[in-house]
Amino acid sequence: MNYHQYYPIDVVNGPGTRCTLFVSGCVHECPGCYNKSTWRLNSGVAFTPEMEARIIADLNDTRVKRQGLSLSGGDPLHPQNVPDILRLVKRVRAECPGKDIWVWTGYKLDELSEAQHEVVGLINVLVDGKFVQALSDPALIWRGSSNQVIHHLR
Ligand code: SF4
Repeated sequence: MNYHQYYPIDVVNGPGTRCTLFVSGCVHECPGCYNKSTWRLNSGVAFTPEMEARIIADLNDTRVKRQGLSLSGGDPLHPQNVPDILRLVKRVRAECPGKDIWVWTGYKLDELSEAQHEVVGLINVLVDGKFVQALSDPALIWRGSSNQVIHHLR
């Protein structure tokens, strides 16, 4: 997996103070997408074991308390990202007690594959669906257009 940005302290993408990772790769090609540069899987830089370890350490950093991890992009549930994302969310569950995980995807919850569901089974919140320009509304919180649904899963 590749990624574009990592914010170790972020108060914009999800509730509270968070760590946020924007991964590379998205097949949805939504007109009006703000993150077009992330569409190609090989854009950005490699997500290394060191980067994974840094996220775990940042989530457990007691100097700046994080509520959890936000995974966006690009699409964290792009089939080619799923193995790395699954490993990451498993680690967060095992090594970062009390932290929540939010994931943004262009897929709909009811169209996910078995492998994508394995990720979703470990997270707290899934914000799903493509961005639809005609339904966009800057007043919406945590989503860009009103067709997208915030699923509180646990
Ligand atoms: S799903 Fe998100 S990243 Fe992908 S094209 Fe749509 S708005 Fe852009």
